[in-house]
Parts: sequence; structure tokens; C-alpha cells
Amino acid sequence: MSNLSSIYIHVPFCTKICSYCDFCKVLYDEKWLRKYLTSLEKEINLRYKSNKIKTIYIGGGTPSCFDNAFFEQLLKIVATFNKGKDIEYTIEFNPEDINENKIKLLKKYGVNRISIGIQTFNKTLLAILNRNSDYEDIKKKIKLLKDNNINNINIDLMYAISNQCLSDLKDDLEKIISLDIRHISTYSLILEKGTVLYNKKMPLISEETDAKMYNTIVNFLKTHGFCHYEISNFAKKGYESKHNLTYWNNNEYYGFGPGASGYINNVRYTNTRNLNKYFNGNYFFDKEILTKKDVMNYEIILGLRKIKGINVKDFYAKYKVNIFDEYNIEPLIKDKSLIFEKDNIYINPDKLYIMNEILIKLI
Ligand code: SF4
Repeated sequence: MSNLSSIYIHVPFCTKICSYCDFCKVLYDEKWLRKYLTSLEKEINLRYKSNKIKTIYIGGGTPSCFDNAFFEQLLKIVATFNKGKDIEYTIEFNPEDINENKIKLLKKYGVNRISIGIQTFNKTLLAILNRNSDYEDIKKKIKLLKDNNINNINIDLMYAISNQCLSDLKDDLEKIISLDIRHISTYSLILEKGTVLYNKKMPLISEETDAKMYNTIVNFLKTHGFCHYEISNFAKKGYESKHNLTYWNNNEYYGFGPGASGYINNVRYTNTRNLNKYFNGNYFFDKEILTKKDVMNYEIILGLRKIKGINVKDFYAKYKVNIFDEYNIEPLIKDKSLIFEKDNIYINPDKLYIMNEILIKLI
């Protein structure tokens, strides 16, 4: 369990439901929230084995929507983990929840990274997504975080939203850059079954525009000093997300909370999304026991998400397998889908957009 040093906690409450959301979430309800906190504590006590923790990520849902007393209760539960000295401790926030009192609690419990769900500043697109965000307000909130020495800030940006055009996207990018933050995660809108947008049969933008938008984001952020280190993630030097790198490096991690996923002792598991089952202590929904080949496949699928890709020597050290013998890599290097350079195999930056097709050929 030497790699087991990361923790993800899922908080399934939101004050408003976004039209594209298929995460595990329910509308904020104090009665359920109390039960959630009790069950979360029990789940952690049952499964956590006192490993030294390097990264904690509390996501959701909207962890920031709790009132201060409940928010502190959550932070107290998390405070019981055996934290490493340089821990990266992230909480997802909705902009409207950032205030002096919450920041005091963040400081008190050692939270040092904030991830803010913005998606877009465009009011028409926000209405489609059923979200709020206001540029002037966010500017003030980010200043407040920075004034309190919380500088490691991520913003989530969504693109390829129905009816969005390139100039809308450029406008969002300009605004985000002006906020002088350290990390940007990007997502293209996907219509997941069961969501409001899916049921409304909302038309998506064309694949061609989607690809143009992706390239616009990559070029724009690179020109503005961001390192493109993972297919959808950009960071100022030294601010790459250590927590997400746990996933992409195929390292093990705990997942606590309804709907959370974890990876422990060669088992990938998903917790139930059913709150009643979770409250009754029936945490697991699904378990996948991995063979060595499965683990190597994950190493490839996740590792190639990183722009630097996979180091072949590290792969050999980990699995005692030559990656070239095990996977059909040569033809993909020949057709320039993959690049092999300085012991690293990575996806040709010009072909990142068709990464899934490349992976299918590989696995
Ligand atoms: S996208 Fe996030 S904030 Fe919106 S409903 Fe889903 S979990 Fe809640």
C-alpha cells in the first residue's frame, strides 16, 4: 500500500441542480446532511488504515454549500487523517459560497487549494446550464482568497456548450486569464442520459467546432504561460494538481462518500449512489478486481492522458514487462499517432483530440 496516499471525499449536496449534471447529488437537505456526516465518519473509520496522506480532495456535489457549523464538522472529520507535511488539500467551491467565515475555517484546517466551478461567464450559456456566475463577483472572491494567502486556485471551464461560438469561448478565456489563477481544468459539454439537457434533446455543437474550441483553449492558455500537462488540464509551473496526478499515474487512492470511486489493493470500487443504502452502511456498489494486465491497461489509458505520457523505464520497473512487447505501439509511432522520445511515449500533440481512437487501437 505504499502508493495509497490520496483521498477523495464525495459530498452529494447542491443548492441548485445544473442541467448537464449526472454526478451523484441531491438538493441540500439538513436532515440528510446530518446522516451523511455520521455515515461518512463511519465509512472512514472502517476503511482508512492510517496511511500518511499526501493529497485530499473534497468534491461533489457542492461541499461549500454547507452552513458554517456543518462545514466545520466535515473539516473535523477530515482532520483525523494522518497528513503528510506538504499535503495538497483541495475543496471545491461555488463562487457564491466564498466568504470571510468559510475562509477562516479553511485556514484553521489547513485547506490550501480551492477549485471553483465557473464553467462560463456568458449569461445566455449559464441559463442553458442552469448555473450562476458573475465576473465582477468572482474577481472579488478570488481577491479575498488571495488576501488570505490561498493562492493555489483552480477554475473549471466548460466549452462546446450548445449555441456557444468561438468568440464566446475567447471571451471566457480572456476573463479567466485576468483572474490570475494557477490552474484551469476544461471540460466539453457531454449530454449524459437522464440529465435535463439530454431529455430536452439539446443540440450539441458540431465535432469540427468542438475540435476548434479545444485547439483555441490549448493555444490561448499556452500563450498565457500555462503548461498543458494533461489532455484537459493546464497549470502555472509547480501548480499541477498533485491529487489528479495520483489518478493519471495509476496510483491507489481512497474514495469515501456516496458515488465515490477508489482504488485499493488492486481493486477499483465505486460506492453506492443510493443515499439510504449508504446511510445503512452498504457502501459498495461495484468492485473490479484487477489482473496484472488490467492494471497495465489502466497505466496506459491514464498515463497517456498526461502530455509527457509514459516513461518506458518506469513502466518496466513497475511491471517487469517491456511495453513494446506487450502493446502494439510501433505502428502507432509509424503513423505519428504516438511519439517516442527520451524514453517517453506520448500522444502526438496534434492528435490529442482523437486520443480515444488511439487508445482503442492500443488496448
Ligand atoms: S454540476 Fe456540480 S454543482 Fe451542478 S448539480 Fe452537478 S454536482 Fe451540483
